[in-house]
Amino acid sequence: MPRSFRSRLTLLFGLLMLTVVTALSLQLGGMLGRQQVRERGDAIRGIAEGVAMMLGEGVHERMRELEMLARSPEASRPGLDPLAWRIEIERIKTGRPYYAWIGVTDIGGTVASASDGLLVGQDVSSHPWFRGAVRGSYVGDVHRAEPLARMLPAPAGGEPLRFLDFATPLRTPADTVKGVLGAHVDWRWARDIIARLRSSDARDAGVLVYILDARGAMLHHPAGPEAAERVAAGEVPSATPAMQSWTDGRRYLTVGAPVVAHPGRPGPGWTVVVRQPAELALHGATAAQRTVWLWGAAALAVAMLLGWLTAGRLSRPLRAISEAAVRIEAGDRGTAIPLAFGSSELEQLSRSLAAMTRRLVDRERKLQVSNVRLEARVAERTADLARVNDELARANRHLERMAHEDSLTGLRNRRSADQLLQRQLGQHRRHGRPLGLLLADIDHFKRINDTHGHAEGDQVLRAVAQCLRGMLREGDHAARFGGEEFIVVLPETGAEGAACVAERIRVAVAALDLPGVGRCTLSLGGAVAEAGNGSPEDLLQRADAALYRAKGDGRNRVAMADDGMLATPE
Ligand code: GH3
Ligand code: MG
Ligand code: MG
Repeated sequence: MPRSFRSRLTLLFGLLMLTVVTALSLQLGGMLGRQQVRERGDAIRGIAEGVAMMLGEGVHERMRELEMLARSPEASRPGLDPLAWRIEIERIKTGRPYYAWIGVTDIGGTVASASDGLLVGQDVSSHPWFRGAVRGSYVGDVHRAEPLARMLPAPAGGEPLRFLDFATPLRTPADTVKGVLGAHVDWRWARDIIARLRSSDARDAGVLVYILDARGAMLHHPAGPEAAERVAAGEVPSATPAMQSWTDGRRYLTVGAPVVAHPGRPGPGWTVVVRQPAELALHGATAAQRTVWLWGAAALAVAMLLGWLTAGRLSRPLRAISEAAVRIEAGDRGTAIPLAFGSSELEQLSRSLAAMTRRLVDRERKLQVSNVRLEARVAERTADLARVNDELARANRHLERMAHEDSLTGLRNRRSADQLLQRQLGQHRRHGRPLGLLLADIDHFKRINDTHGHAEGDQVLRAVAQCLRGMLREGDHAARFGGEEFIVVLPETGAEGAACVAERIRVAVAALDLPGVGRCTLSLGGAVAEAGNGSPEDLLQRADAALYRAKGDGRNRVAMADDGMLATPE
């Protein structure tokens, strides 16, 4: 099934025209056929009736001729004078070539006199014509009179001689039968009648004439007496012309006409049958139908061409619209839907589509603009957010540092020192290695503050812290424990090592020359965790006790828990 509008419309036009042409041709063909059958039927019936009438008249005339002869003066004489009868017979026969034989018999059936002297002296009492004529005038069937046929000259063309018998009784004045006057008429007589009545037109149109006897047997056949062709149904055709099948398997327009007897005479009971081949009888109708088909085919071609052109015209604007729509869909927003003016519906469709497309494209453009703006804003906000995040991270890092660092000295603060101590004690417990702890306190710091001011005091704190940082090995940690106190954590360091470090610190600080302040000293208390037991508080408390001792012993010295004073100032 074609899908395009154009081919569908063309097909529709073609189908419509085909239907019309077929209907027209069938209707016209049927009508013309019926008319043709009527007309041709009338024509062949005319031939059949003409032949039947001529045959009837002919039979009647032959009978009358014979009866006239039977009533001649010669017949009224007593007895049969062969010579006198011979003269009478030859007189009648002259000028009537269809009489093949005329003869008279006595009452016993012996031929007394006959034309050309044929059969004279022979007994014909067993012949139907003799037996029939004894009772009255007789017309027999067509037959072959073999003995006579051999005596007569053979007709041209090799056709066997056949005769039609006529006979009438010869009566005495007392009206008793004294003999029979008989005649054999050559059957070619009937053929001549047919030939005369069948015009050359009818011959050309295939018209053939047959004669059937009273029993339906073929008396005359145009192709000779041996041809067996007849109406298939076997019956005698009726006087109404009709299409009938014949034994040759073909159909013929066929009509029958009875040969009518003259009033008061026995009729022969024959039927004249005329037939014409169906295709010739219907020739006109068939030709007309063919003409209709030819014109129909031409009309079909024109209709399809018109359909094709019309559909093309109708679909062109639609195609233009759909092509524009495809281009727009593919992204070509500059394309406009073309306006179609072919019909009001198309115009309305194209206008609506154009307006709709404009609106959609416009909306899309606005959407794109606002999208771009939105994206810019999002980018801006993202940058802001990143900046804020940076600041936050920085602040976090600062906070982190602040949480663990002493702002004045940059050392760990107390909190970080506590955590560190906790961790290192954990390590110490796990590995069993000693952990040293020092607490350092600046001596008479209050006095420095009071003498030089708080800012100078801060300077001192920074300087001591700096010194502490410089003194320590990697892995050791110093923190500001609060005020002017510092804590030093020494992993994997026993009492001796711790005391050594403390002493080094004390010496280094004491050696500092602080601008504007001069010298300052430091007292240190140390403690060591060695047994894997003890809490940070315990360790601190022991270091603090040692520091307290160092203070009590005069300051600027190191005291170790359990071990007493390790170092004294010089
Ligand atoms: P001692 O030798 O017995 O340790 O005497 P001291 O004066 O050092 O001890 P004290 O505890 O009496 O005084 C400590 C002083 O340290 C008191 C306080 O004003 C001062 N101080 C604590 N923190 C700071 C600080 O951050 N900056 C300054 N400038 N002074 C501080
Ligand atoms: Mg103190
Ligand atoms: Mg102090």
